[in-house]
Amino acid sequence: MSRAQDLDAELMQQAIAARARAYVPYSRFAVGAALLTADGRIFQGCNVENASYGLTCCAERVAIFKAISEGAREFRAMAVVADTPEPVSPCGACRQVLVEFAPGMRLILGNLKGASRVTTPADLLPGFFGSQQMVPTGATAEGGGGPARDAAGGNGEGARGARLD
Ligand SMILES: [Zn+2]
Repeated sequence: MSRAQDLDAELMQQAIAARARAYVPYSRFAVGAALLTADGRIFQGCNVENASYGLTCCAERVAIFKAISEGAREFRAMAVVADTPEPVSPCGACRQVLVEFAPGMRLILGNLKGASRVTTPADLLPGFFGSQQMVPTGATAEGGGGPARDAAGGNGEGARGARLD
C-alpha cells in the first residue's frame, strides 16, 4: 500500500468515527469528515442538525471551522463519508467553503461499502467565486479593507484607504 493509500485509509477511518457522532434526529442522514492539516493535525466533523432545519451544518464545514478556530490555515486532505450508494458528494455550500481554504487539497469521498473516489474542491466547483474576484478597480477601492483587497495592492499611490473628499 502506498503512503497516499495509507493516508486515505486513516482519514476515512476517522471520518467514519466522526460520522458515528452525527446529530441527525430529523434526516437520519449521518455524515462524517476528517481533515488533515499541513502540520499533521486531524480535525473530525459530523453533521449537526437543528429543529429549525436551515441551521443545520454539514460535516465538512464543521471540520473546517473547527480547524480554522484552532489556528490551522493550510490543509492537505479531507475524507468525507456517508451511507450512500456511490461515494458521497459534498453539497454546494461545502464546496464553496472548501475552495476558500484549500482549492487543491486531496479530497477523498467514500461510502460505508468501501467505495471511494479522489478529487479536489476546485474540481468539484468549476468557476467558483473567490477572493480574486474582489480586487478593487480604481477609485471604487474606498471602504475596502479585507485581506483580498489588501493583497491586491490597489492601483498605485493613494489607493489604499483613499478618500474622495
Ligand atoms: Zn455540505
